[in-house]
Amino acid sequence: MTTKTQSPETVQRSALVIDTHADTPQRFVDENFDLGDPLGNGNFNLETARKGNMGAVFFSIWVEPVANKGQYSRRTLILIDAVKQQAAKHSDRVMFVATPAGIELAHSERKLAVLMGIEGGHSIENSLALLRQYYALGVRYMTLTWSNSTDWADSSGDITDTTIPHTKEGLSEFGKDVVYEMNRLGMMVDISHVSDRTFFRTLVITRAPVIASHSAARALCDSPRNMTDDMLRAVANSGGPNSKGGVVQVNFYSAFISQAYRDAQKAQKPEVDKAVQALKDKYKAEGKEAPPAEVSKLQRQWADKIPRPPLSALVDHIDHIAKVAGVDHVGLGSDFDGVDGQLPEGIDSPADLPKITAALMQRGYSAEDCRKILGGNLLRVFREVEQIARELQAENRPRITDKQPYDKPQK
Ligand SMILES: [Zn+2]
Repeated sequence: MTTKTQSPETVQRSALVIDTHADTPQRFVDENFDLGDPLGNGNFNLETARKGNMGAVFFSIWVEPVANKGQYSRRTLILIDAVKQQAAKHSDRVMFVATPAGIELAHSERKLAVLMGIEGGHSIENSLALLRQYYALGVRYMTLTWSNSTDWADSSGDITDTTIPHTKEGLSEFGKDVVYEMNRLGMMVDISHVSDRTFFRTLVITRAPVIASHSAARALCDSPRNMTDDMLRAVANSGGPNSKGGVVQVNFYSAFISQAYRDAQKAQKPEVDKAVQALKDKYKAEGKEAPPAEVSKLQRQWADKIPRPPLSALVDHIDHIAKVAGVDHVGLGSDFDGVDGQLPEGIDSPADLPKITAALMQRGYSAEDCRKILGGNLLRVFREVEQIARELQAENRPRITDKQPYDKPQK
Protein backbone atom coordinates (compact mmCIF):
# COMPACT_ATOMS: atom_id res chain seq x y z
CA MET A 1 0.00 0.00 0.00
CA THR A 2 1.58 3.28 -1.04
CA THR A 3 0.87 6.35 0.98
CA LYS A 4 -0.19 8.26 -2.14
CA THR A 5 -3.26 6.12 -2.71
CA GLN A 6 -4.59 6.52 0.84
CA SER A 7 -7.64 8.70 1.22
CA PRO A 8 -7.89 11.15 4.12
CA GLU A 9 -10.61 8.90 5.58
CA THR A 10 -8.26 5.92 5.51
CA VAL A 11 -5.49 7.95 7.11
CA GLN A 12 -7.82 9.23 9.84
CA ARG A 13 -9.03 5.69 10.54
CA SER A 14 -5.48 4.31 10.68
CA ALA A 15 -4.17 7.03 13.02
CA LEU A 16 -4.08 7.07 16.78
CA VAL A 17 -5.61 10.51 17.20
CA ILE A 18 -4.72 12.37 20.40
CA ASP A 19 -6.11 15.70 21.59
CA THR A 20 -4.10 17.12 24.49
CA HIS A 21 -6.57 19.71 25.67
CA ALA A 22 -10.33 19.58 26.25
CA ASP A 23 -11.98 21.55 29.05
CA THR A 24 -15.01 19.27 29.39
CA PRO A 25 -14.45 18.52 33.12
CA GLN A 26 -15.86 21.98 33.94
CA ARG A 27 -19.08 20.85 32.30
CA PHE A 28 -19.11 17.55 34.23
CA VAL A 29 -18.97 19.43 37.51
CA ASP A 30 -20.84 22.68 36.86
CA GLU A 31 -23.46 21.59 34.32
CA ASN A 32 -23.90 17.97 35.31
CA PHE A 33 -22.87 17.15 31.74
CA ASP A 34 -22.43 13.50 30.87
CA LEU A 35 -20.12 12.24 28.09
CA GLY A 36 -23.09 10.32 26.69
CA ASP A 37 -25.19 13.49 26.35
CA PRO A 38 -25.74 15.43 23.12
CA LEU A 39 -23.26 18.29 22.67
CA GLY A 40 -25.63 21.07 23.74
CA ASN A 41 -23.65 24.29 23.65
CA GLY A 42 -20.37 22.39 24.08
CA ASN A 43 -17.86 20.72 21.76
CA PHE A 44 -17.07 17.30 23.19
CA ASN A 45 -18.96 14.05 23.77
CA LEU A 46 -18.47 10.36 23.14
CA GLU A 47 -20.46 10.25 19.93
CA THR A 48 -18.43 12.96 18.20
CA ALA A 49 -15.14 11.57 19.55
CA ARG A 50 -15.98 8.25 17.95
CA LYS A 51 -17.03 9.87 14.67
CA GLY A 52 -13.67 11.63 14.44
CA ASN A 53 -11.82 8.44 15.41
CA MET A 54 -10.33 10.12 18.46
CA GLY A 55 -8.09 7.67 20.28
CA ALA A 56 -7.14 9.66 23.36
CA VAL A 57 -8.05 12.90 25.05
CA PHE A 58 -6.34 14.73 27.86
CA PHE A 59 -9.08 16.34 29.91
CA SER A 60 -7.99 19.63 31.40
CA ILE A 61 -8.12 19.97 35.16
CA TRP A 62 -8.44 23.74 35.27
CA VAL A 63 -9.15 25.61 38.48
CA GLU A 64 -10.49 29.11 37.96
CA PRO A 65 -8.14 31.05 40.26
CA VAL A 66 -10.35 33.88 41.54
CA ALA A 67 -13.60 32.12 42.41
CA ASN A 68 -11.71 29.17 43.92
CA LYS A 69 -9.24 31.14 45.98
CA GLY A 70 -8.35 29.26 49.14
CA GLN A 71 -9.55 25.93 47.78
CA TYR A 72 -7.44 25.15 44.73
CA SER A 73 -6.67 21.58 45.73
CA ARG A 74 -10.31 20.92 46.63
CA ARG A 75 -11.50 22.02 43.21
CA THR A 76 -8.64 20.11 41.55
CA LEU A 77 -9.71 16.90 43.28
CA ILE A 78 -13.37 17.43 42.42
CA LEU A 79 -12.46 17.79 38.72
CA ILE A 80 -10.18 14.73 38.83
CA ASP A 81 -12.95 12.75 40.46
CA ALA A 82 -15.45 13.88 37.82
CA VAL A 83 -13.18 12.57 35.04
CA LYS A 84 -12.84 9.23 36.80
CA GLN A 85 -16.58 8.99 37.45
CA GLN A 86 -17.27 9.62 33.77
CA ALA A 87 -14.71 7.01 32.69
CA ALA A 88 -16.18 4.46 35.10
CA LYS A 89 -19.72 5.20 34.01
CA HIS A 90 -18.85 4.70 30.34
CA SER A 91 -16.39 1.84 30.76
CA ASP A 92 -17.86 0.15 27.68
CA ARG A 93 -16.56 2.98 25.50
CA VAL A 94 -13.95 4.75 27.62
CA MET A 95 -10.77 3.68 29.42
CA PHE A 96 -9.04 5.82 32.02
CA VAL A 97 -5.30 5.44 31.44
CA ALA A 98 -2.06 7.16 32.45
CA THR A 99 0.61 5.72 30.15
CA PRO A 100 1.41 5.53 26.42
CA ALA A 101 0.89 1.77 26.68
CA GLY A 102 -2.53 2.46 28.19
CA ILE A 103 -3.44 4.70 25.26
CA GLU A 104 -2.53 1.90 22.85
CA LEU A 105 -4.42 -0.70 24.86
CA ALA A 106 -7.58 1.41 24.88
CA HIS A 107 -7.19 2.01 21.17
CA SER A 108 -6.83 -1.72 20.45
CA GLU A 109 -10.12 -2.26 22.29
CA ARG A 110 -11.73 0.57 20.29
CA LYS A 111 -12.21 2.64 23.44
CA LEU A 112 -11.46 6.30 23.97
CA ALA A 113 -8.41 6.66 26.24
CA VAL A 114 -9.05 9.35 28.83
CA LEU A 115 -6.12 11.08 30.52
CA MET A 116 -5.67 14.22 32.60
CA GLY A 117 -3.50 17.30 32.58
CA ILE A 118 -3.57 20.03 35.22
CA GLU A 119 -3.85 23.51 33.70
CA GLY A 120 -2.15 25.91 36.07
CA GLY A 121 0.53 25.36 38.72
CA HIS A 122 -1.61 27.10 41.34
CA SER A 123 -3.30 23.69 41.77
CA ILE A 124 -0.26 22.42 43.70
CA GLU A 125 -0.47 25.29 46.21
CA ASN A 126 3.34 25.52 46.46
CA SER A 127 3.59 21.90 47.54
CA LEU A 128 5.60 19.13 45.90
CA ALA A 129 3.57 16.76 48.06
CA LEU A 130 0.41 17.79 46.18
CA LEU A 131 2.25 17.51 42.85
CA ARG A 132 3.26 13.95 43.66
CA GLN A 133 -0.24 13.02 44.77
CA TYR A 134 -1.76 14.44 41.58
CA TYR A 135 0.67 12.23 39.69
CA ALA A 136 -0.45 9.29 41.81
CA LEU A 137 -4.05 10.04 40.84
CA GLY A 138 -3.09 9.82 37.17
CA VAL A 139 -2.30 13.40 36.13
CA ARG A 140 0.24 13.21 33.32
CA TYR A 141 0.97 16.79 32.44
CA MET A 142 0.88 20.10 34.21
CA THR A 143 0.76 23.49 32.52
CA LEU A 144 3.16 25.45 34.74
CA THR A 145 0.79 28.42 34.78
CA TRP A 146 -2.63 29.33 33.44
CA SER A 147 -3.26 33.07 32.83
CA ASN A 148 -2.24 33.77 36.43
CA SER A 149 1.35 33.77 37.64
CA THR A 150 2.17 31.62 40.66
CA ASP A 151 4.77 32.31 43.36
CA TRP A 152 7.22 30.22 41.34
CA ALA A 153 6.43 30.73 37.60
CA ASP A 154 5.18 33.63 35.50
CA SER A 155 2.26 33.69 33.10
CA SER A 156 1.97 35.45 29.75
CA GLY A 157 -1.50 36.44 31.01
CA ASP A 158 -0.30 38.89 33.67
CA ILE A 159 3.41 39.40 32.96
CA THR A 160 2.83 43.04 31.98
CA ASP A 161 0.76 43.70 35.11
CA THR A 162 3.13 45.47 37.49
CA THR A 163 0.79 44.99 40.45
CA ILE A 164 1.42 41.23 40.29
CA PRO A 165 4.67 39.97 41.84
CA HIS A 166 6.82 38.05 39.36
CA THR A 167 9.92 35.88 39.63
CA LYS A 168 13.29 37.35 38.64
CA GLU A 169 14.33 34.68 36.17
CA GLY A 170 11.05 33.13 35.07
CA LEU A 171 11.23 30.35 37.66
CA SER A 172 12.01 30.65 41.37
CA GLU A 173 14.26 28.06 43.04
CA PHE A 174 11.09 26.21 44.03
CA GLY A 175 9.88 26.46 40.42
CA LYS A 176 13.04 24.69 39.29
CA ASP A 177 12.34 21.96 41.83
CA VAL A 178 8.82 21.61 40.44
CA VAL A 179 10.17 21.06 36.92
CA TYR A 180 12.76 18.58 38.18
CA GLU A 181 10.18 16.71 40.22
CA MET A 182 7.86 16.51 37.20
CA ASN A 183 10.76 15.11 35.16
CA ARG A 184 11.49 12.61 37.91
CA LEU A 185 7.87 11.52 38.26
CA GLY A 186 7.23 11.27 34.53
CA MET A 187 4.72 14.12 34.34
CA MET A 188 4.99 16.06 31.08
CA VAL A 189 6.04 19.69 31.51
CA ASP A 190 3.54 21.87 29.62
CA ILE A 191 4.68 25.38 28.70
CA SER A 192 1.43 26.69 27.18
CA HIS A 193 0.39 29.98 28.86
CA VAL A 194 3.75 30.74 30.52
CA SER A 195 5.66 33.99 29.97
CA ASP A 196 8.51 33.99 27.46
CA ARG A 197 11.10 34.18 30.22
CA THR A 198 9.51 31.31 32.14
CA PHE A 199 9.45 29.35 28.89
CA PHE A 200 13.16 29.76 28.20
CA ARG A 201 14.18 29.20 31.83
CA THR A 202 12.17 25.96 31.85
CA LEU A 203 13.75 24.82 28.59
CA VAL A 204 17.23 25.34 30.03
CA ILE A 205 16.61 23.15 33.05
CA THR A 206 14.19 20.43 31.94
CA ARG A 207 15.71 16.98 31.56
CA ALA A 208 12.80 15.71 29.48
CA PRO A 209 11.28 17.14 26.29
CA VAL A 210 8.40 19.54 26.93
CA ILE A 211 4.97 19.95 25.38
CA ALA A 212 2.79 22.93 24.63
CA SER A 213 -0.60 21.30 25.24
CA HIS A 214 -2.58 24.01 23.42
CA SER A 215 -0.61 26.83 21.77
CA ALA A 216 -0.42 28.38 18.31
CA ALA A 217 2.21 30.37 16.36
CA ARG A 218 2.82 34.05 17.16
CA ALA A 219 4.23 34.73 13.68
CA LEU A 220 0.71 34.20 12.31
CA CYS A 221 -1.38 35.61 15.16
CA ASP A 222 0.06 38.04 17.65
CA SER A 223 -1.14 36.76 21.00
CA PRO A 224 1.35 36.83 23.91
CA ARG A 225 0.15 33.31 24.65
CA ASN A 226 1.24 32.06 21.21
CA MET A 227 4.80 30.92 20.51
CA THR A 228 7.49 32.74 18.56
CA ASP A 229 9.47 30.83 15.94
CA ASP A 230 12.43 30.70 18.38
CA MET A 231 10.16 29.11 20.96
CA LEU A 232 8.86 26.57 18.44
CA ARG A 233 12.42 25.57 17.58
CA ALA A 234 13.33 25.43 21.27
CA VAL A 235 10.49 22.96 21.97
CA ALA A 236 11.69 20.83 19.05
CA ASN A 237 15.18 20.82 20.60
CA SER A 238 14.07 20.37 24.21
CA GLY A 239 15.09 17.48 26.41
CA GLY A 240 18.86 17.34 26.02
CA PRO A 241 21.24 16.07 23.33
CA ASN A 242 19.81 12.53 23.08
CA SER A 243 16.19 13.63 23.05
CA LYS A 244 13.99 13.44 20.00
CA GLY A 245 12.45 16.73 21.16
CA GLY A 246 9.08 18.01 22.33
CA VAL A 247 5.83 18.86 20.59
CA VAL A 248 3.58 21.88 20.10
CA GLN A 249 -0.11 20.93 20.07
CA VAL A 250 -1.99 23.56 18.11
CA ASN A 251 -4.86 25.40 19.81
CA PHE A 252 -8.02 25.80 17.69
CA TYR A 253 -9.35 29.00 19.37
CA SER A 254 -10.25 31.61 16.75
CA ALA A 255 -8.55 34.47 18.63
CA PHE A 256 -5.27 32.52 18.73
CA ILE A 257 -5.23 31.40 15.10
CA SER A 258 -6.68 34.38 13.18
CA GLN A 259 -5.27 37.89 13.35
CA ALA A 260 -8.46 39.21 11.69
CA TYR A 261 -10.60 37.59 14.38
CA ARG A 262 -8.29 38.90 17.08
CA ASP A 263 -8.43 42.44 15.69
CA ALA A 264 -12.23 42.31 15.44
CA GLN A 265 -12.41 41.10 19.02
CA LYS A 266 -10.20 43.97 20.14
CA ALA A 267 -12.29 46.52 18.24
CA GLN A 268 -15.44 45.14 19.82
CA LYS A 269 -14.09 45.15 23.36
CA PRO A 270 -15.29 48.62 24.49
CA GLU A 271 -18.85 47.78 23.44
CA VAL A 272 -18.73 44.37 25.13
CA ASP A 273 -17.37 45.90 28.33
CA LYS A 274 -20.17 48.44 28.24
CA ALA A 275 -22.83 45.76 27.79
CA VAL A 276 -21.37 43.65 30.59
CA GLN A 277 -21.27 46.67 32.89
CA ALA A 278 -24.92 47.44 32.07
CA LEU A 279 -25.89 43.89 32.98
CA LYS A 280 -23.97 44.09 36.24
CA ASP A 281 -25.55 47.46 37.05
CA LYS A 282 -29.01 46.05 36.40
CA TYR A 283 -28.43 43.30 38.97
CA LYS A 284 -26.77 45.70 41.36
CA ALA A 285 -29.84 47.91 41.33
CA GLU A 286 -31.75 44.88 42.66
CA GLY A 287 -29.06 44.34 45.28
CA LYS A 288 -27.80 41.22 43.50
CA GLU A 289 -24.66 40.08 41.72
CA ALA A 290 -24.82 39.22 38.02
CA PRO A 291 -24.68 35.41 37.62
CA PRO A 292 -21.40 34.41 35.89
CA ALA A 293 -23.36 32.17 33.47
CA GLU A 294 -25.36 35.17 32.29
CA VAL A 295 -22.24 37.30 31.88
CA SER A 296 -20.55 34.63 29.76
CA LYS A 297 -23.74 34.14 27.73
CA LEU A 298 -23.70 37.84 26.92
CA GLN A 299 -20.01 37.72 26.01
CA ARG A 300 -20.65 34.73 23.81
CA GLN A 301 -23.45 36.56 21.99
CA TRP A 302 -21.00 39.32 21.15
CA ALA A 303 -18.29 36.90 20.10
CA ASP A 304 -20.78 35.14 17.80
CA LYS A 305 -21.11 38.39 15.83
CA ILE A 306 -17.51 38.06 14.63
CA PRO A 307 -17.22 35.84 11.55
CA ARG A 308 -15.49 32.54 12.23
CA PRO A 309 -12.09 32.23 10.58
CA PRO A 310 -11.82 29.65 7.79
CA LEU A 311 -10.45 26.20 8.58
CA SER A 312 -7.37 27.15 6.54
CA ALA A 313 -6.38 29.57 9.35
CA LEU A 314 -5.97 26.62 11.70
CA VAL A 315 -4.19 24.49 9.11
CA ASP A 316 -1.80 27.43 8.47
CA HIS A 317 -0.62 27.15 12.08
CA ILE A 318 -0.02 23.40 11.85
CA ASP A 319 1.81 23.99 8.57
CA HIS A 320 3.88 26.86 9.98
CA ILE A 321 4.95 24.90 13.05
CA ALA A 322 5.78 21.86 10.91
CA LYS A 323 7.97 24.06 8.69
CA VAL A 324 9.70 25.96 11.52
CA ALA A 325 10.04 23.20 14.15
CA GLY A 326 9.67 20.11 11.99
CA VAL A 327 6.81 17.73 11.27
CA ASP A 328 7.89 15.62 14.26
CA HIS A 329 7.06 18.50 16.60
CA VAL A 330 3.45 19.45 15.95
CA GLY A 331 0.11 18.04 17.04
CA LEU A 332 -3.44 18.91 18.12
CA GLY A 333 -4.61 20.54 21.37
CA SER A 334 -8.11 21.70 20.50
CA ASP A 335 -9.21 23.60 23.63
CA PHE A 336 -12.70 22.16 22.98
CA ASP A 337 -15.16 23.32 25.65
CA GLY A 338 -12.65 25.96 26.75
CA VAL A 339 -13.29 28.68 24.19
CA ASP A 340 -17.05 29.22 24.20
CA GLY A 341 -17.46 27.70 20.76
CA GLN A 342 -15.22 30.29 19.08
CA LEU A 343 -13.69 27.80 16.67
CA PRO A 344 -12.85 27.98 12.97
CA GLU A 345 -15.52 27.31 10.36
CA GLY A 346 -16.56 23.68 10.16
CA ILE A 347 -14.86 22.66 13.41
CA ASP A 348 -17.46 22.14 16.11
CA SER A 349 -16.42 18.87 17.74
CA PRO A 350 -13.96 15.97 17.38
CA ALA A 351 -16.23 14.64 14.59
CA ASP A 352 -14.74 17.37 12.38
CA LEU A 353 -11.10 16.36 12.92
CA PRO A 354 -10.98 14.40 9.61
CA LYS A 355 -11.38 17.76 7.85
CA ILE A 356 -8.00 18.80 9.24
CA THR A 357 -6.42 15.60 7.97
CA ALA A 358 -7.95 16.17 4.53
CA ALA A 359 -6.66 19.75 4.45
CA LEU A 360 -3.16 18.65 5.43
CA MET A 361 -3.13 16.00 2.69
CA GLN A 362 -4.30 18.59 0.21
CA ARG A 363 -1.22 20.61 1.16
CA GLY A 364 1.01 17.64 0.40
CA TYR A 365 1.41 16.07 3.83
CA SER A 366 1.95 12.31 3.53
CA ALA A 367 -0.15 9.75 5.36
CA GLU A 368 2.79 9.11 7.66
CA ASP A 369 3.21 12.82 8.46
CA CYS A 370 -0.50 13.13 9.18
CA ARG A 371 -0.38 10.21 11.60
CA LYS A 372 2.51 11.90 13.42
CA ILE A 373 0.59 15.17 13.70
CA LEU A 374 -2.65 13.47 14.71
CA GLY A 375 -1.03 11.75 17.70
CA GLY A 376 2.20 9.92 16.89
CA ASN A 377 4.39 12.82 17.94
CA LEU A 378 2.70 13.21 21.32
CA LEU A 379 2.95 9.48 21.96
CA ARG A 380 6.70 9.61 21.20
CA VAL A 381 7.23 12.49 23.66
CA PHE A 382 5.11 10.82 26.34
CA ARG A 383 7.21 7.63 26.01
CA GLU A 384 10.42 9.60 26.28
CA VAL A 385 9.17 11.43 29.37
CA GLU A 386 8.52 8.02 30.97
CA GLN A 387 12.02 6.86 30.00
CA ILE A 388 13.68 9.97 31.46
CA ALA A 389 11.71 9.46 34.67
CA ARG A 390 13.08 5.93 34.98
CA GLU A 391 16.61 7.27 34.46
CA LEU A 392 16.21 10.05 37.01
CA GLN A 393 14.71 7.70 39.56
CA ALA A 394 17.77 5.47 39.17
CA GLU A 395 20.16 8.40 39.63
CA ASN A 396 21.88 8.61 42.96
CA ARG A 397 21.35 12.27 43.71
CA PRO A 398 19.96 14.04 46.77
CA ARG A 399 16.22 13.68 46.77
CA ILE A 400 14.18 16.85 46.57
CA THR A 401 12.02 15.36 49.29
CA ASP A 402 14.98 15.62 51.67
CA LYS A 403 15.08 19.34 51.08
CA GLN A 404 11.35 19.95 51.02
CA PRO A 405 9.71 17.26 53.03
CA TYR A 406 6.15 18.47 53.21
CA ASP A 407 4.22 21.64 52.81
CA LYS A 408 6.90 24.20 53.50
CA PRO A 409 5.79 27.30 51.57
CA GLN A 410 8.52 28.45 49.19
CA LYS A 411 8.74 31.68 47.28
ZN1 LIG B 1 -5.68 27.22 28.38
